[in-house]
Amino acid sequence: MALIVQKYGGTSVANLDRIRKVAKRIIRVYSAGNDVVVVLSAMAGVTDGLIQLAHQITNDPNRRELDVLLATGEQTTVSLLCIMLESMGCPAISLLGHQAEIVTDRAFGQARIVGIHATRIKELLTRRKIVAVAGFQGRDQQGNITTLGRGGSDTSAVALAAALKADVCEIYTDVDGVYTTDPNLCKDAKKLHKIAYDEMLEMASLGAKVLQIRSVEFAKKFNVPVHVRSSFKEEEGTMVVEEEEDMERLVVSSVAYSKDEARITLTRVPDRPGVASKIFTPVADAGIVVDMIIQNTRKGGLTDLTFTVPKHDYPRAMAIQKEVAKSIGAEQVLGDEHIAKVSVIGVGMRSHSGVAAKTFSSLANENINIMMISTSEIKISCVIEEKYTELAVRVLHQAFGLDSP
Ligand code: ADP
Ligand code: ASP
Ligand code: MG
Repeated sequence: MALIVQKYGGTSVANLDRIRKVAKRIIRVYSAGNDVVVVLSAMAGVTDGLIQLAHQITNDPNRRELDVLLATGEQTTVSLLCIMLESMGCPAISLLGHQAEIVTDRAFGQARIVGIHATRIKELLTRRKIVAVAGFQGRDQQGNITTLGRGGSDTSAVALAAALKADVCEIYTDVDGVYTTDPNLCKDAKKLHKIAYDEMLEMASLGAKVLQIRSVEFAKKFNVPVHVRSSFKEEEGTMVVEEEEDMERLVVSSVAYSKDEARITLTRVPDRPGVASKIFTPVADAGIVVDMIIQNTRKGGLTDLTFTVPKHDYPRAMAIQKEVAKSIGAEQVLGDEHIAKVSVIGVGMRSHSGVAAKTFSSLANENINIMMISTSEIKISCVIEEKYTELAVRVLHQAFGLDSP
């Protein structure tokens, strides 16, 4: 008999009818003799609604209180699931993040799990309870409720699977696996049967929100086999596993995109030592993560400097840079929220040349202008105008042969 952690995303628990279907699936696995720990998200749209509600009061809600508010979404679904399971004759108990002893740091809104004391869950399992844990939440050392960042229930599930040494962590979502690109954007996307942690990490960090990046980090670190699959279908999905010798190493194995960044440019910046530090130190001090940076030198000791930040930090980053521009004597601060980052990813890129050239010419053939580029061993990312996202994804997907079986 196995210990199985199952996580159900927002669409899988969007209403009572769906929760009933989820309950039936859980009972099947439990009745076969397995121990089952279930992690749930809030009902689809609920977290967004709660954020909007707080923003009707202020643009900058108190972060601790916002986490107390957001945690209610998952409290609703775990309790409803357990009421459902009990009504179907199955012993179940819900635990909130703090009751499951999911301990995090104090970074409200994007807390990191620092430890899980799974003794209570283990004891409940030995009493043959189905344990439903509220995803996306934990508590800091002082007992404050924290949340793990958008999509954080994936991380709750994988971290619990690691702490419990579960046999598998199943992520049930609204698509039936991990695809070569977002199947909701590109109908030619192909389902992958297996994917290596490193490739999945890169995909998640470049915008493929099917798994939260921290969940993949946990899975890799603790070697948790993750099975991404659909809660609406029975067939197998995608296994996320350690890279294997015989794994197919495609030069490009997937295409990802993100519309979650914005671009900031400082023009006519005096080109002298210390200026970059004056620009980026206050951004870092504000806890804002800068992604890409490019600098263009002009004549006369002046330079233009462009960088990207997460869209939700854009207003704060702009305000900071307006102050910085005054203090260093830069001419202007320009901003652009309508950008997208498209990326091609593949571990096979390590040993192949020509991927960058093909990426750029494919975009050029469609007249898509590339504003910024960044590369690593296993990915190439281009920032483009947001309105070309879908076209760029389709063109790159086709150029690297991902639409043919
Ligand atoms: P859940 O609410 O179940 O956590 P999410 O919306 O967070 O679901 O993640 C699932 C979504 O991820 C899919 O609906 C799909 O649009 C998107 N997605 C992006 N890239 C991929 C990919 N490469 N493979 C599968 N899904 C992807
Ligand atoms: N409910 C949270 C969100 O919408 C966490 C999750 O769904 O994983 O981001
Ligand atoms: Mg998600």
